[in-house]
Amino acid sequence: MILYRAHLLDAPEPGRLRSIPDGALVVDETGRISETGTFPVLAPQHTGLEVRDLRPHWILPGLIDLHVHLPQYDSVAMDGLELLPWLNTHIFPAEARFADAGLAKDAARRFFGNLLSLGTTTAVVYSTIHQEATDVAFREAESCGIRAAIGKVMMDQNAPEALSEDTEASLQQSNELIQQWHGKSHGRLMYALAPRFAPMCTPALMRGVAALSEKTGAYIQTHLAENLDEITWVRKLFPECANYTDVYRRHRMLNANTLLGHGIHLDASERAMIRAAGATIVHCPSSNAFLESGVMPLRRWWNEGLSIGLGTDVAGGPTLSMWTEMAMCCTVSKLRFALLNEANATMKPAEAFHLATKAAAQGLGLKDRIGSLDKGLDADFVVVDPRLTDPAARIEDAADRVLSRLIYRADPRMVKATFVRGKQCFAQEN
Ligand SMILES: [Zn+2]
Repeated sequence: MILYRAHLLDAPEPGRLRSIPDGALVVDETGRISETGTFPVLAPQHTGLEVRDLRPHWILPGLIDLHVHLPQYDSVAMDGLELLPWLNTHIFPAEARFADAGLAKDAARRFFGNLLSLGTTTAVVYSTIHQEATDVAFREAESCGIRAAIGKVMMDQNAPEALSEDTEASLQQSNELIQQWHGKSHGRLMYALAPRFAPMCTPALMRGVAALSEKTGAYIQTHLAENLDEITWVRKLFPECANYTDVYRRHRMLNANTLLGHGIHLDASERAMIRAAGATIVHCPSSNAFLESGVMPLRRWWNEGLSIGLGTDVAGGPTLSMWTEMAMCCTVSKLRFALLNEANATMKPAEAFHLATKAAAQGLGLKDRIGSLDKGLDADFVVVDPRLTDPAARIEDAADRVLSRLIYRADPRMVKATFVRGKQCFAQEN
């Protein structure tokens, strides 16, 4: 057991920060948090324990990225196109290269290493259609220690030649990967079936995905109502469905294990379907701005009781940093307020922080495992030095001001260390 001494900060409730200036986190041999509290109270109860005094650093729960594309990392920041032409011009050629397992291995190593260096401890990841590249991604996640749900992309219609799959083969390969990886490393590695989006999936594929999720408990991740041209295309392809969300509902793809990327342009009936299923919307504000897709009315969706988390959606979004994603979450909400006069649209840093931690954990059905610094949870946490936000945050400032600096002025050096289940997976040199 180890006792970590630092300023503790988390957001177990929406919009409310829990700040313990002279805090202590006791982590047991299994990597679980056995006690959370103040150092003066916990230290005398744990005499003889190894104490790691991290002051003046702060400990925050690890950040959770609910939507990110591993093979797109090398194609970030390709500006100038909307979703569909951007996919054809930049993304599909990049994904086709993952037929080369050596390239896939190198990319996965850099990708997960960078996530950990930014304080992301859990990521929900799209691979490519390639089984081997997906297997390699799992192996890299296994060895670097990150918590991840990964899935091979599935596309059996309207995809470019090099990325087109046979329906049965796609389902078969996904099932093999589920058997191999879902729940491995004591649940640290999970499978997330990844039918790319309705236009590139046949009804047979979607029904097969639903059956696999029901049978194995694997997550389903896909895209929904991101771009207006995409929505028009879906209407044309599935005229029998009431709307885009109904395509997924009819093929039984909406359940409590479903993560829906974007969800910008949804009507009330679609939101009701998502709520009824208990599925989660992954808000990707950087990507939605970058690809000119729109600005999701986050506050309204959230007030309606929808389950919501945040995703970087690299390479739709130009950064892997969840700090920046939290900043964008706040910034674009201010634009809704300023330009559309939408009452109460503005999101506060503490709320964005909640979405990136506890709310994301709830969306994954893992609220008893991750998302805060509560006793009994796995010790997934990040050690930050707020003095490295530039200009330096004063650590004696109120916690909400320090959090605001960490989010809006994130410095790559401020993450000093990242722990997953009590194991240090990243340490800043010097
Ligand atoms: Zn995406």
